[in-house]
Amino acid sequence: MNTQPKASHFIGGAFVEDTRGAAFDSIHPATGAVIARLHEATPDILSRSLEAACDAQAAWAALAPVERGRILHRAAMILRARNHDLSVLETLDTGKPLQETLVADAASGADAFEYFAGFAPTVTGQTIPLGRDMAYTLREPLGVCAGIGAWNYPIQIACWKAAPALAFGNAMVFKPSELTPLSALALAEILHEAGLPAGVFNVVQGRGAVGAGLASDARVAKVSLTGSVPTGRKVYTAAAQGMRAVTMELGGKSPLIIFDDADVENAVSAAILGNFYSAGQICSNGTRVFVHQRIKAEFLDRLAARTRQIRLGDPLDPQTQMGPLVSEEQMNKVLRHIARGLDAGARLVCGGARHGTSGCFVQPTVFADVRDDMALAQQEIFGPVMSVLDFTDETEVIARANATEYGLAAGVFTRDLARAHRVAGAMQAGTVWVNAYNLTPVEMPFGGVKASGIGRENGHAALEHYTRIKSVYLGLGDVDAPY
Ligand code: NAD
Repeated sequence: MNTQPKASHFIGGAFVEDTRGAAFDSIHPATGAVIARLHEATPDILSRSLEAACDAQAAWAALAPVERGRILHRAAMILRARNHDLSVLETLDTGKPLQETLVADAASGADAFEYFAGFAPTVTGQTIPLGRDMAYTLREPLGVCAGIGAWNYPIQIACWKAAPALAFGNAMVFKPSELTPLSALALAEILHEAGLPAGVFNVVQGRGAVGAGLASDARVAKVSLTGSVPTGRKVYTAAAQGMRAVTMELGGKSPLIIFDDADVENAVSAAILGNFYSAGQICSNGTRVFVHQRIKAEFLDRLAARTRQIRLGDPLDPQTQMGPLVSEEQMNKVLRHIARGLDAGARLVCGGARHGTSGCFVQPTVFADVRDDMALAQQEIFGPVMSVLDFTDETEVIARANATEYGLAAGVFTRDLARAHRVAGAMQAGTVWVNAYNLTPVEMPFGGVKASGIGRENGHAALEHYTRIKSVYLGLGDVDAPY
């Protein structure tokens, strides 16, 4: 596959290059091979992308919603038709196994376009009777939205932001992560092939400074970031200076609570999925697995046996279940977390080292006897490292699960219906899974509380984050003036 894009940026419906921008490489983390060379956006490129979006937005918003929806629906069909090639591209760029990218990346993006294509024509305002007079509300697009993506789900993140933004009449400038720059360009091409007017969706490349340029530009009405909490703080601060709206999809250290009446095999499945899928590089992962002491031994036995069977290797091999981490830097960071966990006295159940000597592979790693005060239980690692903690009492485990600055997600495994709802209600988290984990269908709102973020993607909730309300007051009689 030729992975070198035609140019670094996509602006006004066409690929655009500017070699004055600093060069950077996209690297396949399983082998270290350079798969593309791109250039960061210069201030001129950034400005051109925002101008193109500004120029295109009003006419796009003026289309009937059903027409906008038709174009987005066509894009979804093309995404599905090209799913295999897009998945290979995503596997090369991220290192995630093809087994995953075939079902979870472009396919999830297509779901988002289908959902919001159908949603757009249903958006209406209210009529408000006021006695003699009345008022009505209009749902308006915000204008030009900036999207900034992380590297773990590059095309999915681009689609989760672009689909609602575009469906409701906004234009977008999207900056993918500098580690995974390729699939957003493929998405831009597909959207234009589907009939999207030039300038409605643009892609610019670059590191944090390019994202910062977007977040502070007066032409931007809203910034939607998927990234870490420290970046979120910077982007939110920059957006606040211009009173720009934000959606912040940030990091987590989510609890997965397994009670002693749970189906142990299902709970093990959830813990494995919620820690090792995408080599652990998922924001909502349940990395603090609280297991009731009564079933701890059985749980750990099954967990270790099944974790040892996970097949690591070439992510393009359809049999491979776990690929490398996205970069050498990320691999080294994860290995440092593992070393610190060992130093702190956590018990290594399996894994704990680099896998092989080439590529950015880390063994799926399980620590037991982890205490709440260990760094393992407090910091987002963003790699295949699971911490198992013990508990005996429901009230105690709820308090411990919530004792974190994060609040992205939580999980509970129990056969007791009343307890399931009680615990779900008590979790300080944007999403709680009961007897399931990490499923994020487009119909369900997704986002965090506390330091994990602001706003929601997907579901009806996305409407609130990509539109604003205008109230129109209709005076239907004489104006009553006191002077
Ligand atoms: P990151 O914060 O390093 O980077 C995210 C994006 O922000 C990148 O495109 C980066 O170039 C850009 N950026 C960096 N500094 C910036 C600045 N000052 N201004 C504007 N943009 C800037 O995150 P990452 O390492 O790419 O991704 C991993 C993180 O993302 C993890 O913390 C993970 O939990 C989080 N994440 C969250 C979700 C979610 O939906 N909540 C989903 C995926 C990943």
